[in-house]
Amino acid sequence: EAKLAGRARARVCDAGLRGRAASRAELVLALRQAIAAGGTSLAYQPEIDLVTGELLGLEALCRWARPESGPVSPAEFIPLAEEAGLIGELGRHVLATALADLAGWRARTPVRSELTVWVNVSPLQLNDPRFAAVVAELLEQSSVPGGCLGLEVTESAVMAQDAATRAQLHALRELGVRVAVDDFGTGYSSLGALKALPVDLLKIDRSFIDGLRGRGSDAQIVTAILAMADALGLAVLAEGVERDDQLSTLIGLGCTRGQGFLLGRPAPAGVVEAVIRGSRRRAGT
Ligand code: C2E
Ligand code: MG
Ligand code: MG
Ligand code: MG
Repeated sequence: EAKLAGRARARVCDAGLRGRAASRAELVLALRQAIAAGGTSLAYQPEIDLVTGELLGLEALCRWARPESGPVSPAEFIPLAEEAGLIGELGRHVLATALADLAGWRARTPVRSELTVWVNVSPLQLNDPRFAAVVAELLEQSSVPGGCLGLEVTESAVMAQDAATRAQLHALRELGVRVAVDDFGTGYSSLGALKALPVDLLKIDRSFIDGLRGRGSDAQIVTAILAMADALGLAVLAEGVERDDQLSTLIGLGCTRGQGFLLGRPAPAGVVEAVIRGSRRRAGT
């Protein structure tokens, strides 16, 4: 009897595994179709000067909603796209869309000439020896100056220090494109690499901003990052600012850039255009 139950259990597990595998294949297929048919979109989250409240830039965040099951998190579909060999195409589409949106805002709205759109880039894209050429081509097509585009790369991708990635980063610098290290503090950065690589901005990971209150250890970590960035000539931005006490602590510590639900949630391009217009009016220009 125990044996039978065991066998039944094994069959159930087997079916479960097949079910999961099938749904993963289904998800890949659906993602492939969505990329080809314009079924993905972008949301933009503001990057704010914490002292003046000025809008400094916008981070483009990819969105995918399946008609039958609703939104899929990028934390799920980006790794899937990487594994399935779809990230090159998806990444190119994200870049082209972000540049087209920025070109539209620049044409229709009196934006600050330095308003920057930041696009997340997978290490796999950065590893492609043609990547900088693709960026150059897309910049030219959109007529957006290279200095108005920023790319966010993960710490491990920048620190890997493989020749292909390093060459891409230097080619991007030639185009005037800015580079940010995303989720900074969660990986392993070498000071030597940070000094040698063409990096402009460190985005302090949300986990260090979470516990930011008064003078605890997270405040000391932020202080250390600010001092190090200052010595290296890098700008610093705090991710995931959700509460007023975090905002005032950051300002007190001398961190002048931030992003987070308190400062603005990710929103579609049309909504963001109104925000850009509003921020110009408030700034009196
Ligand atoms: P990320 O680049 O670190 O982006 C920030 C994430 O934190 C976004 O999640 C954003 O919605 C969320 N966030 C912003 N402010 C707050 C806050 O105050 N509190 C909390 N709890 N969360 C906040 P999202 O959009 O789900 O994206 C997750 C990750 O997926 C991104 O992390 C990025 O690594 C990746 N991703 C998104 N779009 C793309 C893309 O187009 N290409 C690539 N390669 N990766 C992408
Ligand atoms: Mg990012
Ligand atoms: Mg981030
Ligand atoms: Mg993050």
